[in-house]
Amino acid sequence: MASDPYRHRRQQMVRKQIEARGVGDPRVLRVMGEVPRHLFVREHLHPQAYGDFALPIECGQTISQPYVVARMTELLDVSSEHSVLEIGTGSGYQTLVLARLGGRVFSLERIAELARRAIERLRPFELDNVKIQAFDGTFGWSDVGPFDRILVTAAAPHVPPPLIDQLKEGGKLVVPEGGRDGQRLILYEKTAEGLGQSTGEAVSFVPLIGRHGWAEVEDG
Ligand code: SAM
Repeated sequence: MASDPYRHRRQQMVRKQIEARGVGDPRVLRVMGEVPRHLFVREHLHPQAYGDFALPIECGQTISQPYVVARMTELLDVSSEHSVLEIGTGSGYQTLVLARLGGRVFSLERIAELARRAIERLRPFELDNVKIQAFDGTFGWSDVGPFDRILVTAAAPHVPPPLIDQLKEGGKLVVPEGGRDGQRLILYEKTAEGLGQSTGEAVSFVPLIGRHGWAEVEDG
C-alpha cells in the first residue's frame, strides 16, 4: 500500500503478539506483516485493528485475534500448490492471509451480507485465486473439492463429517472444537492409515451454525 499509517503497529503486532508467542513460520510472519488488517474492520475501529484481541464486525460476528489467525495459519501449513477451503469468511481477513500464501482459496460464509461485504473488501487486492460464496459451510463445497487444506474459523461441537470426506489424503484440517463457550484448536491429518488428531491451545470463537454444527436458536 502506498501510504499505510498502520505499518509500524502491524510490525509490532507481528513481533510482540505473534512471534513472541512462538509462531515461527517465516511465510506466516511475512504475510501477517503485510496484510492491512484495519481495512477489514469498520473505520472507527481502525486504531484498534492491531490490538491483541478479536474485534466485532457486522452481523454480530467477529474478526479473530491476530495471534489466533497466525497460529491457525501456521498449523494449516499452506503452500502454493494447495487448494484451501475456509469455513467462515467473516470480514475476509483470514481469506486474504490464505490467498497470499498461494494456492486457490474457496471460502464459505453463512451470512450473505458478510459474504457480500468480504467480496467488496477484497476487490482492491485484485486476487485471482479466491472464490467466496454464501452457504452453510458445514456441508463443505463438494463441487470444487476435495481440498488439501481446510480451515474452520467458527466453533464446532465436532468436526463436520462432510469436511473430513472432502479432505484429500495427506490433507490437514484445523478447527476450534468444543463447547459454545470455549474450544481447543484441533489439527486433523488424513493419511492412508486414517485420521490423526492433535490438540492445541484453548480459544474462544463464535459458533459454527449449520446442519453439522450448532443449532441457530440454541442459547449460548
Ligand atoms: N475468518 C474470519 C475473519 O478473518 O474475519 C472470522 C470468522 S468469524 C470468527 C466466524 C464466521 O463464521 C462468522 O462470520 C460466521 O457467520 C461464520 N459462520 C458460522 N457458521 C457458519 C457456517 N455453517 N458456514 C459458514 N460460515 C459460518
